[in-house]
Amino acid sequence: MARTHTLGFPRMGAHRELKFALEQHWRGDIDAQALESVGAELRARHWFVQKAAGLDFVTVGDFAFYDHVANHIQMLGCEPARFGFTGEEPELHRYFAMARGTQAGQHSSHGAGCDCAHETAGGRFALEMTKWFDTNYHYLVPEFHADTEFHLASLRLFDEVAQALEAGHKVKAVLLGPLSFLWLGKEKQAGFDRFSLLDKLLPVYEQILHRLRMQGVEWVQIDEPILGLDLPDEWRHAFERTYWRLARGGVKLMLATYFSPLSDNLRLACQLPVAGLHVDAVRAAEDLTGVTDWLPSHKVLSLGIVDGRNIWRTDLDAALARIRSVAEKHRGELWLAPSCSLLHVPFGLQAETGLDAELKSWLAFAVEKLSELRVLRAMLNGDEASVQAEWNSSRAAVASRRASPRVHREAVAARLAQAAPHADRRASVFAMRQEQQRARLALPPLPTTTIGSFPQTTEIRAARAAFKRGTLDEARYREAMQAEIALAVRKQEALGLDVLVHGEAERNDMVEYFGEQLDGFAFTANGWVQSYGSRCVKPPLIYGDVARPRPMTVDWTVYAQRLTKKPMKGMLTGPITILQWSFVRDDQPRSTTARQLAWAIRDEVCDLEQAGIAIIQIDEPAIREGLPLRRVGWKPYLAWATQAFRVTASGVRDETQIHTHMCYSEFNDILPEIAAMDADVITIETSRSDMDLLRGFGEFKYPNEIGPGVYDIHSPRVPTVGEMVALLEKAARVIEPGQLWVNPDCGLKTRNWPETEQALAHMVQAAKAVRVNLGSGHHEAGIGKPSGDGREAAFVLPVENASVGR
Ligand code: GLN
Ligand code: ZN
Repeated sequence: MARTHTLGFPRMGAHRELKFALEQHWRGDIDAQALESVGAELRARHWFVQKAAGLDFVTVGDFAFYDHVANHIQMLGCEPARFGFTGEEPELHRYFAMARGTQAGQHSSHGAGCDCAHETAGGRFALEMTKWFDTNYHYLVPEFHADTEFHLASLRLFDEVAQALEAGHKVKAVLLGPLSFLWLGKEKQAGFDRFSLLDKLLPVYEQILHRLRMQGVEWVQIDEPILGLDLPDEWRHAFERTYWRLARGGVKLMLATYFSPLSDNLRLACQLPVAGLHVDAVRAAEDLTGVTDWLPSHKVLSLGIVDGRNIWRTDLDAALARIRSVAEKHRGELWLAPSCSLLHVPFGLQAETGLDAELKSWLAFAVEKLSELRVLRAMLNGDEASVQAEWNSSRAAVASRRASPRVHREAVAARLAQAAPHADRRASVFAMRQEQQRARLALPPLPTTTIGSFPQTTEIRAARAAFKRGTLDEARYREAMQAEIALAVRKQEALGLDVLVHGEAERNDMVEYFGEQLDGFAFTANGWVQSYGSRCVKPPLIYGDVARPRPMTVDWTVYAQRLTKKPMKGMLTGPITILQWSFVRDDQPRSTTARQLAWAIRDEVCDLEQAGIAIIQIDEPAIREGLPLRRVGWKPYLAWATQAFRVTASGVRDETQIHTHMCYSEFNDILPEIAAMDADVITIETSRSDMDLLRGFGEFKYPNEIGPGVYDIHSPRVPTVGEMVALLEKAARVIEPGQLWVNPDCGLKTRNWPETEQALAHMVQAAKAVRVNLGSGHHEAGIGKPSGDGREAAFVLPVENASVGR
């Protein structure tokens, strides 16, 4: 008899109750106790959902007020010393101080209702945040020193277990495994390796397991997702000793792996002294044969058969066939589960009243995924009759999706099939394009520009919201946005920037804006997924072949260009970023969806060129986060991802300058592929790494032009001219000055106008200063003629373009 369980459940609540409670607490509107009761209420409800779906256990320990890794930091007693906690502060106060940082002399991280009298002397930075494997969930990074000690410091987990037991549930507790916990942290001290802390950490885990057993917990799920990574030998070899040690805790361990194939760690995972192994049968299906070969029959095999990373209804027939083939080989007990925690999908479909019935029938969010497990288990256990109706409707939905003309559009397939083999190449090599672009654009050396967005003021947001609600008509909305664009253009001209942008006032979000105008996309009303802390995102769904019915940005861009003689940079989101930040189809490879997106955006690029726009930026901030977790997957991914970018960018003439922008990226290890994107100009985020990143570009001899961000837009602080001059000079030492651009790190939409204008004024001054310095020395020939000599190129649009677009 198969059993069912889930690796974890979304925390936010059906209506993001946790988000709102957290924000109230941080504002000081509710005290810690009120927040705790919201947490308890949400857990109770979510366990009830699990019970109602007939799961054999409810999962306890997946809840967190901010992040589960942060919970472990507290439980394991390794809050970084730099926070200066005395130990007298309430636990939740310390928790939010780590998660959100504290400002000097101020209770920034707990509500006014908090009775803690503790006052931090100086401000403390929050713990660093980084992406949880290849998901969009961000965890707080544990900080380690050689003298880091561990002890069981928070009893929260046991309290939650007690809460669930009291409610009459059968409990499976979940922990992040010790090796993954260490792996995900960072050394904050030179000459020391966090691996060396393992032996100090294990006794605390043993103690936790022992304590859970004393509470009556039979099963503990222990997550070691790092088994899906390319691990150094030392770490791999430590698994055996670690799990022998944890076996002493006396509970049954379900070792959970997910997101990525076990591959070379497969035998190891099968042979560890644990009672069960969970494998991701969606993303690591190739492991199944090996696992059934190697996993002894006295161990439970938990099959992650329902996709925990995507929103599609499971093809139950296919799933059942797969489960049966596994069951034939694995003689031991079988459990059914989602592939990973359901943290990565929205709560439930009930709130989706706006989706049409057909599309909705193709979907399954967390609640529905649990039902799928129940149906699968019934089928497997020979109890078809009880689930016949559900099975039939699931089958009908899967069949309708498979055959739907909304999904498969002949024109899109035909276009991809007919694409010329060189469609992903510009007509000429970079050097030739550069010459023509310089002649056309006549920019000064070290041209100044920005990354696209300007402050999204409350007025802008209000106008957009009113337009969406229908209380502001299209004409008035257009006027309001045009006024914002005109304002942005005036300000940029006054600042003396060389390449202007329209400011993206009309865009709520760089992916949603395009998704809303492309065929093949749908948007949910309530499909929120936690990104970090109280922040949630609502990714678009790409359900069908992607096409662009009409231009998306041309009108706005042309409007902006008409207001200035300086070049106006068109602004688009690239195919990989759209792919990466959406829920995508599972019925075709990601690479195919990427190509469809590429052709759709390419049309927009060509239309912008046609309308007289000389510079077009295609943002790809997400290209690096699409990298597979295992290195063997990098090459193939980068090949199709960079090709998709080139397809997007290559429909234009030599004299049209293509920019791309990337941020958050450590990309020194993929520089050849970034160079292979062949953008004429790349702007990158560098100021936070003090230009370290740039060194990589310099050593690699990045061939095209490059704009290393000279100031951090994430901070309200306005950098001085001197600081930016220093950064530019540093940049000019590693990059040929003739290749350099001057720009901020990223878009400015989260900043306000006064700080933006000040910072950009300093940036323009810094560029001018460095130009003068360079002019007196090793300045190479070939840099476009400086402006200000009366020979500015005029970007006045031809009259026939007046009717471009709608
Ligand atoms: N063009 C976008 C902006 O300026 C780029 C944002 C990003 O890189 N995340 O807002
Ligand atoms: Zn950016």
